[in-house]
Amino acid sequence: MENLSPVCSDFAACQARALRAHELLCAEYGAPFRFFSTKDALSELISALLSHRTRNQESHRAYQQLRAQFPTWEAVRDAPTEAVEQAISACTWPEQKAPRIQAVLREISTRCGGPCDLGFLADMPVAEARAWLETISGIGPKTSAATLLFSSLRIPAMPVDSHHHRVAQRLGLIGPKVGEGPAHKLLEAFLPPDWDAQHVYDHHEAFMFHGQKCCYFHSPACGRCVVLDQCPFGQARLNKTATITAE
Ligand code: SF4
Repeated sequence: MENLSPVCSDFAACQARALRAHELLCAEYGAPFRFFSTKDALSELISALLSHRTRNQESHRAYQQLRAQFPTWEAVRDAPTEAVEQAISACTWPEQKAPRIQAVLREISTRCGGPCDLGFLADMPVAEARAWLETISGIGPKTSAATLLFSSLRIPAMPVDSHHHRVAQRLGLIGPKVGEGPAHKLLEAFLPPDWDAQHVYDHHEAFMFHGQKCCYFHSPACGRCVVLDQCPFGQARLNKTATITAE
């Protein structure tokens, strides 16, 4: 991606920009948004692991097949890996995801001393709940946040997907070299501490929708963008186009 956007050097200014973008994007896409999932946290975690670099429709099918074939998560944990791989064949890389899912389930069982639905994470501070999950091999910040926020736990942890990341980068909220993983802490720092799960969810969804519907990877539609006045990347891009046209 061409770097046209200076990064905000002043935290307060960055935070004000992030929150103004939140307001504008929430109004544009119709917040508050309805939570799409009612899964318990462990089910949401497995669903998130399946969804890695997979289209929603395919990961949903893999999840449904896994649930249909195995009555419990303990049964998935203890099944032959080939059987799990077969059940999730609708998603990408089932040969990598099957052993990873089983290893995660084994680790959780070991830590909990038996079957466990992760409901106890609701009693921890958000940062501690995230850390508990992220110390399990194969679980990064996006998966931990998705597990806590999207599941029935509704804990205010913010996931950053590729659309959200791209919009934040173009708005200059994070630097052009900051990856999706490290972006979580930097972007979360802009959120007011008293925001509940609905606010955090709206923030993530609004940025994600914007990446899907306007701030495309190729040729973002800056001319009709509601956060153009907040976006140094879009302004520089439009100025550049205007200069070239005038020449
Ligand atoms: S002005 Fe352009 S680059 Fe900036 S957020 Fe809008 S669409 Fe994306």
